[in-house]
Order: sequence, then structure tokens, then C-alpha cells
Amino acid sequence: MALDRYGRDIHYLRISLTDHCNLRCVYCMPEDMTFQPNAELMQDDELILLVRLFASLGFDKIRLTGGEPTVRGHIVDIVREIALTPGIRSLSMTTNGVLLPKLAQPLAQAGLKRVNISIDTLNPEKFRRLTRWGSLEDVWQGILAAEEAGLTPIKLNAVVVRGYNERDVIDLARLTIERPWQVRFIEMMPFAGATDLQLNQAVTTEQIMEHIEAELGPLHTANGGELDGEARVFQLDGSLGTVGFISTVTQPFCASCTRARLTADGRLRLCLLREGEVDLLTPLRGGASLSDLRQLILDGIWYKPWGHGLAEGLIPLNRVMNQIGG
Ligand code: SAM
Ligand code: SF4
Repeated sequence: MALDRYGRDIHYLRISLTDHCNLRCVYCMPEDMTFQPNAELMQDDELILLVRLFASLGFDKIRLTGGEPTVRGHIVDIVREIALTPGIRSLSMTTNGVLLPKLAQPLAQAGLKRVNISIDTLNPEKFRRLTRWGSLEDVWQGILAAEEAGLTPIKLNAVVVRGYNERDVIDLARLTIERPWQVRFIEMMPFAGATDLQLNQAVTTEQIMEHIEAELGPLHTANGGELDGEARVFQLDGSLGTVGFISTVTQPFCASCTRARLTADGRLRLCLLREGEVDLLTPLRGGASLSDLRQLILDGIWYKPWGHGLAEGLIPLNRVMNQIGG
């Protein structure tokens, strides 16, 4: 078991499989983003070795993210290897969905259980503007393919940006009336790469809820008021699905955090919004023993920060979002 000094049992690992992406969302990275050379990223055998090590330390829940995890070479084989790792009981992925029409079925067969798909608007023009060139239809087909492949319950992620999609939350929330999906609205967080937009065009959970309730009626507390992962969950009258809010900025959930992150270049990141990291890949390549690596992980987890420092104006600037994975 990997405990931190505040007594939190850290057992959920989010792995960025690559910093590369086939889109360029305005809130995530600049259009001319320079990606890391592949040689600097964890290779398949290094990744699997680290996954086994984390699993031996009690990590039982893994989410694959990126960049865009589906553009990583051998993604189906990687999923299969992780799914077969003893101790891993939950394996999911956060994806932009573009490649799911082709990959949903093989990924499900390889042992992937669920996907969260990012979709910030149902308007094709606005979708293109937000992602710089993405096709809404591709993502929509990806969502249907994921559902068909049994990667359920389907959760959709939307980041809300003033001047881009703040009114589109209504159509997205409306989806939950007739579909058993969870549509989750994420408060935009500040990182390097797109900091001005992130700081100046953020929309709070409270504002998003107001837009939805004014149009669709009251949002009732669901899930017994318990967090579903990091989301507070609500339901519209008579709906099949739920509406979630991930309010990292205005209502942090740090006290119940059980997460650590592994960046695509093999750094253990203790908090999404703090710069501190422990390099695992360099020692691994330098011949460190499994027990040395194990100790590096346990020491890093022990010193996991209590929470983020956004309220004090501390913005993590050593990484762009796609290198950590959200
Ligand atoms: N490419 C995949 C995707 O878009 O779902 C996975 C990686 S992406 C970095 C993971 C999640 O982070 C997505 O839901 C994305 O919308 C969200 N995200 C990206 N930049 C963000 C930011 N500045 N603030 C909040 N969420 C952000
Ligand atoms: Fe790519 Fe996901 Fe970042 Fe959009 S949010 S640019 S899809 S990594």
C-alpha cells in the first residue's frame, strides 16, 4: 500500500501514454506545439515494467490518457498487457474519441473497461474552432462505437471556455435526458502553453449550473451526494443519465485525492497542479534495481502535496496539459 503523510491511500494511477495528439484544443496546447521525441518517452517494455511495479504497491486502478492515448503505437497490445497485470481491477481511458470507430472494439476485447470521451460542444463549427481542426462527426461516431463495444457507462468530458462554448452546455446536458450517459463539465485549469486563455476565459461550475437550470430545469443531487471520482453528480427531471461537475478550481477535492500520475516521459507526478515530480525513467534506464525504483515511488508518494495552490496564485508552468494527461 502506498500511503502519503496525510494518511491518504494512493492507489489510482493516470498514465500519459504520449504527449502527441491528433487535435490541438485551445485550452490544452498551442497550435505549434513541439512534441517530445519518441526516444524520450517510456518504451513499451519500460511502461509495462513500471505498471507491474505500481500494481505490486497496491495501485489497482489505471486510466490511460495523453496527449491522445489512441495515437500511441501498439495501443491495443499495451492495453492487453496492463489488463493482464495481477492486481489491476479497473482499466479505463480518456480520449478525444476520433479513432474510436476503429479502435473501440479491439480495445474492449483487449480488456479496456470504460472510456471518457472529450466533446466540448455539439456544434460542428464551434467544435472545429475549439479543437483547431477536429470533426465533431468523427467524435460522435467514436462515442457510438464505444457504447456498441460495451465501454460503458459512457462519460463525456466538456471543458467550458468563455467566448467559445459557454452556452453549449445546455445541449450537452440535454443529452442525458434520453441517454444513460454522464456529461461532465470541467472547470478550465491553468498550465503552461495556453495560460492567458485559461486564466481569462474560465467559466465556473456555478455559472455552468445557472445556464443549464435556466433552460432545462433543476439539477437534483444524485449518487447520494457522493463524489463519482472527482465529479459532483446531478440529474435533470426524468433523465436517464447524469450531469457531473469537476470543480477543481472553485471547489477542490484534494482531501479525497487518491491519484498519482505517470508522465509520458516516465516521471511520477504527485499532483496535477503542482510541479513536483520524481524521475523514474532515468534511473530505470541507468540500471536501477526494482527495489530502488520501488523506494523512489514510495518516497515520492509519501511527500505528495496536500493540495493545489491555485487559490494562492501558484500555477504549474513546467508542463503543458497534454504531457501530464489531466
Ligand atoms: N486527448 C484526450 C482527451 O482530450 O480526452 C486525453 C488527454 S486530455 C489532456 C484529458 C482531459 O483534460 C480532457 O478531458 C481535456 O478536455 C482536459 N483538459 C485539457 N486541458 C485542460 C485544461 N486547461 N483545464 C481543464 N481540463 C483540461
Ligand atoms: Fe489533444 Fe486531449 Fe489536449 Fe485536446 S485535450 S489537444 S484532444 S490532448
